[in-house]
Amino acid sequence: MFKKILIANRGDIALRVLRACKELGIPTVIVHSTADANSMPVRLADESVCIGGAPASESYLNIPAILTAAAITGCDALHPGVGFLAENADFAEMVKAHGLTFIGPEPHHIRSMGDKVEAKITAAKGGLPLVPGSPGAVHTLEEAQTLSKDIGFPLLVKAASGGGGRGMKVANTADDLAEAFSSARSEAKAAFGDDTVYLERYLDNPRHIEIQVIADAHGNTAHLGERECSVQRRHQKLFEEAPSPVLTEAQRADIGAVAAKATAEMGYLGVGTMEFLYQDGEFYFIEMNTRIQVEHPITEEITGIDLVQEQIKVAAGEKLSFSQEDVTFTGHAIECRINAEHPETFMPMPGKVATFHPSGGTGIRIESPLYAGYSIPPHYDSLIAKLIVYGRDRDHCLARLRQALDEFIIGPMPTTLDLHKKLVNADAIKDGSYTIKWLEEEFLAKAEEQ
Ligand code: ADP
Repeated sequence: MFKKILIANRGDIALRVLRACKELGIPTVIVHSTADANSMPVRLADESVCIGGAPASESYLNIPAILTAAAITGCDALHPGVGFLAENADFAEMVKAHGLTFIGPEPHHIRSMGDKVEAKITAAKGGLPLVPGSPGAVHTLEEAQTLSKDIGFPLLVKAASGGGGRGMKVANTADDLAEAFSSARSEAKAAFGDDTVYLERYLDNPRHIEIQVIADAHGNTAHLGERECSVQRRHQKLFEEAPSPVLTEAQRADIGAVAAKATAEMGYLGVGTMEFLYQDGEFYFIEMNTRIQVEHPITEEITGIDLVQEQIKVAAGEKLSFSQEDVTFTGHAIECRINAEHPETFMPMPGKVATFHPSGGTGIRIESPLYAGYSIPPHYDSLIAKLIVYGRDRDHCLARLRQALDEFIIGPMPTTLDLHKKLVNADAIKDGSYTIKWLEEEFLAKAEEQ
């Protein structure tokens, strides 16, 4: 096992990794920016190193400073968390070149899955069902026009390097294609420095369902079931649940087996998530995330498996502590993402936390670095807490969630707590009938009219 792990991240995920290391008895070093000197993970880690200024480019993305911190503190492994450098293949390679273990997959897997065109080609080889679309990158408008005749409209022009919903444009008809093609390319160039795009049929009302996979270096692979992530705003997940309210046990076993097989065939190592769109009983692969996912706790709640600890153990060369047959799904779990943001404009609302009263009781789990008196820095993501609730079944979980949301107090800044309080009483949430369009096009649109 590792002697000392460097945590190259901040916020709730840094705390999550820190707790996993503590349970495994592994000492930790956390790197941080000047803005995070008083953060909870910095206070709780065994050692901390300030690596630069508040802007992420000076600190959490500052590769020489991170590697130097690892060297001077004698770390032998690095956990990248989520975001920042977690899916940067060059960084993973540099970590290895400096004699440290990167707690994640091999750099070539990060690279191939980070390019969505290549990811789709790999997924197809592994037997995963794809959204119909261009066979690879599309370089000219003429090529797009020719391909669109087979794909049909509406279609999506998507950035190969896309992420966070950027570089994605819908063309409803052939007349829209030129505009969608050029605006997706320029948005992709500005956001990712790469204007490569591809085409996909635009599914009119799918759900977003993803499968958690895990593999060790000894040829053992398993899937841990699905997470339903269709409650989205601006293509960002807000509320996730496991299991999905619409999948049967047989469907879960089928898509899980396909995902696990593709993972094994790739020779993948560690945790990963295969994201699918699901419509009319069919799955369509869209991308694979080669890191631990923000919503991983709901899988942990229903399987009893600590994904971060397993991730660390397989990176250290240990065998998976379970096989597919050992994985069982019990009860129901929901995660609510709590962001500090303006309720109407959704602009981040950082500032000093005066009140922090987390909910409690059986089945309630809070992943948050907040404490009263803490100042939320304005430089990073607006996610300040995750409320995860477990219940024996979906109704029980929703009942507990309502109570947990009523108890949770964060102030004075506005947060998404109020939105979640309304969401849990919406019919489409209660009966599980929502799709990826529901939150924006029905729920929030209706709220605006009132
Ligand atoms: P990103 O990496 O930018 O998050 P994804 O490919 O994961 O991009 O897609 C993000 C979201 O965009 C999906 O969850 C879904 O809501 C929507 N989306 C993506 N592809 C399609 C498609 N072909 N048809 C309909 N919606 C899509």
